[in-house]
Amino acid sequence: MSTKDTSTIDNDTSKPNVAFIGLGNMGAPMAENLLKAGYTLSVFDLSDAATKRLQQAGASVAQSPKEAVSNAQVVISMLPAGQHVHSVYLGDNGSSGLLAELNKGTLVIDSSTIAAADARTVADAASKLGVEFLDAPVSGGTGGAIAGSLTFIVGGNAEAFARAEPILAVMGKNIFHAGTHGAGQVAKICNNMLLGILMAGTAETINLGVKNGLDPKVLSDIMLQSSGRNWTLEVYNPYPQVMENVPSSNGYQGGFMSKLMQKDLNLAMQTAQDTHVDTPMGAKATELYASHTLENGDKDFSSIMGRHDISLLS
Ligand code: NAD
Repeated sequence: MSTKDTSTIDNDTSKPNVAFIGLGNMGAPMAENLLKAGYTLSVFDLSDAATKRLQQAGASVAQSPKEAVSNAQVVISMLPAGQHVHSVYLGDNGSSGLLAELNKGTLVIDSSTIAAADARTVADAASKLGVEFLDAPVSGGTGGAIAGSLTFIVGGNAEAFARAEPILAVMGKNIFHAGTHGAGQVAKICNNMLLGILMAGTAETINLGVKNGLDPKVLSDIMLQSSGRNWTLEVYNPYPQVMENVPSSNGYQGGFMSKLMQKDLNLAMQTAQDTHVDTPMGAKATELYASHTLENGDKDFSSIMGRHDISLLS
């Protein structure tokens, strides 16, 4: 693991040109941090609103992924799921993907959370073309993306990791080399399975206290100083107005969408099934998010609180 040393960032005069693809809740602030650190960015997203934000921040907006990478030594992607990563890099419906457009030696860093098997498929295809590929999913949420304090969990070879480190250090604070291709994704879904369990458990616990006459903030403060303490209570309380500047206090908008948490839990369950590992708590969290997502897929994942009191979602 390495820890950010910002003293080196502004003095680096040999910054590669970066293409950034996928400028959503996470990608936009990550790209903005690269711009602030002096990187030249060419960006692409299917959404005009997303690209406009980056244009205002100083990026040049490309009309296609191909145009975005035309002058890039490094490509970073932050896309919703495996099918988007597959489609962008390998193409679909007979079209060729972005890998075929890249010069030999280009470094591709995919920070989307996807199946380890999908990451390995793209890494293999990249390797055949002389392109370096790293799976580099992140933890830390939109707050970490804005603050440049994400945790990057990287899978791939050591040389590519060393090339990526100074760039990742602009967007993150802790950078782990988890192992070979796909290892970053395995570590990431282990983390998110635990996060899904913790969020669902924290929401049902606060509900138990509230239904028994406790103030949610008082109960949260007590648990924060007791053995129930966890990340959701520390920085992401699911009950509205207990904390400022979290999705639960903003109608569960922004943040990490429930449908993305469900995707990650499904990835964890698939991995557990493929490798014959017993994960009953993960299975329960997956079941809870599957039903919650039917109506609330676009709301932040802390909206699972509304399972217990639907009025909290209105
Ligand atoms: P998001 O839906 O807000 O953003 C994804 C962006 O990708 C959108 O702007 C969309 O228009 C764009 N996109 C989709 N297909 C595209 C294509 N073919 N070409 C170009 N752009 C395309 O999602 P997000 O919250 O930013 O999450 C991105 C990834 O990061 C996901 O894999 C998610 O699981 C992971 N993640 C999210 C969080 C979080 O807190 N939001 C935290 C850690 C990891």
